[in-house]
Amino acid sequence: METENKKVVILGSGPAGYTAAIYAARANLNPMIITGYQKGGQLTTTTEVENFPGFPEGVDGNALMSQMENQALRFDTEIVFGEVTKVELAEKPFKIHVGDKQYTTDSLILATGASAQYLGLESETKYMGRGVSACATCDGFFYKNKDVAVVGGGDTALEEASYLTNFCNKVYLVHRRDEFRGSKAMQERVLNNEKIEVVWDSVVDEVIGEEPQGMTDLRVKNVKTGESRNLGVAGMFVAIGHKPNTSLVEGQLDLDEKRYLLTQPQSSKTNIDGVFACGDVMDSNYRQAITAAGTGCMAAIDAERWLAEQQ
Ligand code: FAD
Ligand code: NAP
Repeated sequence: METENKKVVILGSGPAGYTAAIYAARANLNPMIITGYQKGGQLTTTTEVENFPGFPEGVDGNALMSQMENQALRFDTEIVFGEVTKVELAEKPFKIHVGDKQYTTDSLILATGASAQYLGLESETKYMGRGVSACATCDGFFYKNKDVAVVGGGDTALEEASYLTNFCNKVYLVHRRDEFRGSKAMQERVLNNEKIEVVWDSVVDEVIGEEPQGMTDLRVKNVKTGESRNLGVAGMFVAIGHKPNTSLVEGQLDLDEKRYLLTQPQSSKTNIDGVFACGDVMDSNYRQAITAAGTGCMAAIDAERWLAEQQ
């Protein structure tokens, strides 16, 4: 089923997608946003957001995303709930498939985000956002003067463990091997930090918790000795990598070695004219709501200028 051609279609309804929609709508481009299954994006999986400017008392993640949606709607954004299953970028207008529907558009903004990898334990899912987090920058502050654990052995885990020592009492760094994957410089920083205790050769057995407070402890198991122990921590930060949501455009757009979308310096332009990218899907470095919103703004401005040049 084909529909009327659009000037701009945005894939993804996180901070990047909604910001792009607000800017595109205010430029009279009548954008369409296709939300994906996770309407509102990653922030809908958290409670308090304390670092988004404009909310001195903090703001609930879901509430913030509803506000962004309302702001996009106010300026005439068409919102389609659905998951894009295929995009065709070889010819213009670009084709976008959502189930049996097909949309066409002159320009496309990709804002499909990235997903944190988790361990896959049932207890981890149960206490998500109530002790379990995948973002120390976002949630570390809630564990001021408490003991926490970080899981992983790459640069992210090493960096998050160091960062958490700024306000936590003690940080256990749980790694499944006896050697870190992260850089030598980061390793030294961690090993010289007396607030960090490395728990080598160990995996998480179970996140322990109680209702209603959430996570109360963490049980880890040494894979060499088989011994288990409770760490006595209030929080667990999972830092075992992220996966950008780029499978839709793999083989059509240039990706970097970590499979994030490649954009030109100081711009949201991809290697195909008229296709732009913003937010976590093109940013393996910062991965914050405010940077996603910032690049969403860039993508809409770039799309608007590109469309104007075509006329
Ligand atoms: P996302 O928010 O990931 O949104 C991606 C969107 O793409 C979703 O709507 C999804 O449905 C859609 N999508 C994916 N695939 C498809 C498809 N095939 N078709 C259509 N749509 C698709 N950052 C902060 O700044 N402060 C915080 O306090 C904070 N807390 C966080 C807490 C948690 C638990 C998590 C997981 C992240 C947190 N972050 C925080 C990070 C922040 O959420 C992200 O940086 C931000 O959401 C990225 O925005 P985005 O728009 O790029 O992508
Ligand atoms: P990564 O390098 O892929 O490391 C992931 C870590 O998690 C590895 O130590 C891995 O263990 C562990 N792991 C994976 N799956 C696991 C599981 N199921 N259970 C337990 N542990 C698991 O990912 P990253 O640390 O997020 O880094 C990604 C990239 O960003 C890297 O290129 C990194 O250098 C870069 N980065 C750079 C900086 C910086 O320069 N400041 C900061 C952050 C990230 P194994 O080692 O046993 O495989």
